[in-house]
Amino acid sequence: MDDCIFCKICAGEIPATVVYENDQVIAFEDLNPQAPVHVLVVPKEHHANLLDDVSAAELAEVVAAIGEVARAKGLSDRGFRVIANTGADAGQTVEHLHFHVLGGEPLGEGLIP
Ligand code: AMP
Ligand code: ZN
Repeated sequence: MDDCIFCKICAGEIPATVVYENDQVIAFEDLNPQAPVHVLVVPKEHHANLLDDVSAAELAEVVAAIGEVARAKGLSDRGFRVIANTGADAGQTVEHLHFHVLGGEPLGEGLIP
């Protein structure tokens, strides 16, 4: 996708602070963090969101990468939250599938602020 900002990050055309990367997935710091730790886990293949033909194998890679990010950022013991905004009502702003990994402080019990 030529005009996709996350595809450009995956291709190394736009800088990002990379936390973890393998052939299928990249994880980098969110530009506008909403918690002390806020990392985006992004499959390198372009999908608009979770409804866009995402394979079980890709999701398995994402889950494994989330574990790597949690360990790298010291979240394993205290926990963290994962969010995948999907479509307009969820406020999705970047149309390339991504998973927010949030933590580093108690996030509260509610899912929505
Ligand atoms: P969403 O609202 O779920 O689509 O989230 C998009 C996220 O991408 C937001 O939290 C933005 O702060 C983040 N973001 C947008 N552009 C960049 C970028 N170039 N590098 C890192 N994070 C970005
Ligand atoms: Zn993309």
